[in-house]
Amino acid sequence: MEKLYIGVDLGGTNIAAGIVDVNGNILCKKSVKTNLPKPEAELEQDIYNLCKSLCEENKYNLDKDIKAVGIGTPGSVDGKRGIVWSNVNFGYENWKIKENLEKLFGISVYVENDANAAIIAEVMAGNAKGCDNALIVTLGTGVGGGAYLNGEIYAGYNYAGLEVGHIVIEKDGRQCNCGRKGCFERYAAASALTRDTQAAMKEHPESALWEICPDIEKVNAKTAFDGKKQGDAVATQVVDTYIDYLACGLVNLINIFQPQVVCLGGGVSNERQYLLDLLKPHIDREDFARNARERTEIVIAKFRNDAGIIGAAMVGVNND
Ligand SMILES: [Zn+2]
Repeated sequence: MEKLYIGVDLGGTNIAAGIVDVNGNILCKKSVKTNLPKPEAELEQDIYNLCKSLCEENKYNLDKDIKAVGIGTPGSVDGKRGIVWSNVNFGYENWKIKENLEKLFGISVYVENDANAAIIAEVMAGNAKGCDNALIVTLGTGVGGGAYLNGEIYAGYNYAGLEVGHIVIEKDGRQCNCGRKGCFERYAAASALTRDTQAAMKEHPESALWEICPDIEKVNAKTAFDGKKQGDAVATQVVDTYIDYLACGLVNLINIFQPQVVCLGGGVSNERQYLLDLLKPHIDREDFARNARERTEIVIAKFRNDAGIIGAAMVGVNND
């Protein structure tokens, strides 16, 4: 029988679980509200009940058909010992999630930070498959990152490593809510691109961006790209500036790690090849190893919708 895993995407708003095969295909999934705050034991029971009903409704036997359960969650996570050190959403400290859930499930449970889970998924079955050194950078509400180095997750000694959104790319630049100024995510997040697009529209009533998106409140990370594709000068300026900052942060990371592959995820990566084509000349100009025989390749992450579930399941596959 084929090996199956449960992946649990544990967020502050929803808990989503899916039964996933070793290739990262979701066979079925289900989610419930997290409904915080609640005590640890109650949340653990919720996770177990969700997985149990997911199996029952889809005619799987939790004990016999499922090899392991993987959990992906934001926060500082010690994946080796299965402890969530801190997670602001839950308000728990030193949460022994692996030990507690294994008692409920009766099978192996593994836990990892969600960005680390995402790079594990890309390395195990995605667009960094087989790489020993790969990064993921997610361009969403913020900018997140995960690193797989020499065949292992690199989390930092205190499990708070790879906060790539908070490297400064503009000294004394935009104020970030981390306390620094000029952080990468203040320029490269999807939310930053959205705000910059809105600001440019307000300044330029003549821009075709107003035809693409007449309601400025509905502007998103796609709007400026659409405008540039149509040849609008204002949109082109917004996107070119965005790409300049994005490339700066990415080259900083490439110059530190020189990974085989950098996977881009998050909303902005929906631009796919168009985004990669815009980035390439910048990377080719700035990468310290631009003349090396082997060069870092930038790709779009394979796992997109449900990346959280698949990543979590792959943590199970990786540890099993
Ligand atoms: Zn910051």
